[in-house]
Amino acid sequence: MTEGVYNIACIAVFGLIFGSFLNCMAMRIVRNEDFVKDRSRCRDCGHKLGAIDLIPVLSYVLSRGKCRYCGKKISVRYPVTELIFMFLSVFLYAFTKPDMLLFCKNWVLTGCLFAMALVDLEILEIPNGLLITAFFNWVFFSLLEVVTGDWSIKDLGFGLLAGVIAGAVMLTLSLIMDRILKRDSLGGGDIKLFAILGLYLGFAGAYELVILSCVLGLMFAMARKIIDPKATKEFPFGPAIATASYILLIIGNDITDWYLRML
Ligand SMILES: [Zn+2]
Repeated sequence: MTEGVYNIACIAVFGLIFGSFLNCMAMRIVRNEDFVKDRSRCRDCGHKLGAIDLIPVLSYVLSRGKCRYCGKKISVRYPVTELIFMFLSVFLYAFTKPDMLLFCKNWVLTGCLFAMALVDLEILEIPNGLLITAFFNWVFFSLLEVVTGDWSIKDLGFGLLAGVIAGAVMLTLSLIMDRILKRDSLGGGDIKLFAILGLYLGFAGAYELVILSCVLGLMFAMARKIIDPKATKEFPFGPAIATASYILLIIGNDITDWYLRML
């Protein structure tokens, strides 16, 4: 019991730190800044931030949401994204707990999806760098799973095949939709993302992903229409895909079992 609490607390702290990093990375991708070399600075006065300013959530609370150097308000986006990613990490751990390798694999993917969703919300783009990271993360952990005996070569082959098929299906669907709607329905980034998620989720999961992403996408689009009736027609689909895949990462097997029992 106490060990469980200790583990959850560790995951929560790592979730906050990783979430803070991901939010900064997403903001820097949107603004075309280097996120490896540049030090963090205040967005208003440009003062370099010290270690004490970079503690997730705590720095924000202690400084009452204001920059320590110029006194300007700090965006609430920082603590909010950090807390959201903390909860995502803890739930992911709670659902995949006994298998640490699987947890790490899915945790990095969740991080990529989180940053992608943040970027897509701002500039309607899914950055290739994050897609490539998600792809190589799958390759790395899948090979590790083969080495440790959790996975066979056959599983690896099936994973790859599922990715190729998921990408091909989405490409076909989007071409048909383009014809019907007479405009671009899905961005190229969305299709690549579906292919990569097919690797992680397998055949059944990829199928569920398409349905769940469309349902969530529709819900997000309607919610946006209500909140902001003047919003542009172009709509970021990335956040819906990211949310759907996260749900499938934690309860995908239960959904498949339930679905098979219904047949
Ligand atoms: Zn400042």
